[in-house]
Amino acid sequence: METCKFFVKFWGVRGSIPTPGPETVKYGGNTSCVEVRCGKQLIILDSGSGIRKLGIELEKAMPVYATILLSHFHWDHIQGFPFFKPGFQPNNVFHIYAARKLNTTLKRLMQGQMMYPNFPVSLEAMGAKMDFKELSPGENTVSMEEVEIKTAACNHPDEALAFKISYRGASVVYATDTEHYNYIDPSLLQLSKGADCLIYDAAYTTEEYYGKIGNSRIGWGHSTWEEGVKLAKAANVGKLVLFHHAPEHDDALVAEIEQKASEALPGTIAAYEGLEIFL
Ligand SMILES: [Zn+2]
Ligand SMILES: [Zn+2]
Repeated sequence: METCKFFVKFWGVRGSIPTPGPETVKYGGNTSCVEVRCGKQLIILDSGSGIRKLGIELEKAMPVYATILLSHFHWDHIQGFPFFKPGFQPNNVFHIYAARKLNTTLKRLMQGQMMYPNFPVSLEAMGAKMDFKELSPGENTVSMEEVEIKTAACNHPDEALAFKISYRGASVVYATDTEHYNYIDPSLLQLSKGADCLIYDAAYTTEEYYGKIGNSRIGWGHSTWEEGVKLAKAANVGKLVLFHHAPEHDDALVAEIEQKASEALPGTIAAYEGLEIFL
């Protein structure tokens, strides 16, 4: 039955900056954006450059009523928003959620990237109905009909939010822009327990992370596929999806990482643009 469907579709899987070009055609070069459908409910995780194409798709069935969950405000997670066409249609409604930040509001943070002289169109000029709601990691639960959304804090500069979306007994966790500790992150473990799918920040290889290739990435706020496997195993997750591929990782390297990760934890895949996972 169409309305019972629970699926995840990837529109942007890259971290830090869009990386178009012949070396990224297989996995894609757009930054973070994931569509989640829970029956009739539409949830959008992050608004990196991938949201532009999602917007074109959504225009085919207007009006759009959606919940947008922002992990944080680094450019690669918000830069597509000014190019999200459904945001310019007055009949569309968006409920936008993100973590509360000190001395500012979520709305102001979204206005910021569109302010003169950085962008020619203001957030207000977009025209769709938007409301902004601030969350405290681990504290709030968002409920909409049969959908429940929980959060946890990620270990990232200025913190990011991880989300767990549950619907009719199944669940998906989106935990990107997070750096592992030398123990399994207790809040991500708690959030991910028993999830059917875990989308996890696998930006670096372990060699890159420790600076055996280039600079050490310790403290940069990202993780590795090995740490994703550890978390997925500890949380007894159904499927691990590697996400937020580093801009310098070409298709060959992402494929190599995917191969190694799937040997360590069968069924693990690297996210690519257009990937759909049915839960
Ligand atoms: Zn990022
Ligand atoms: Zn970030």
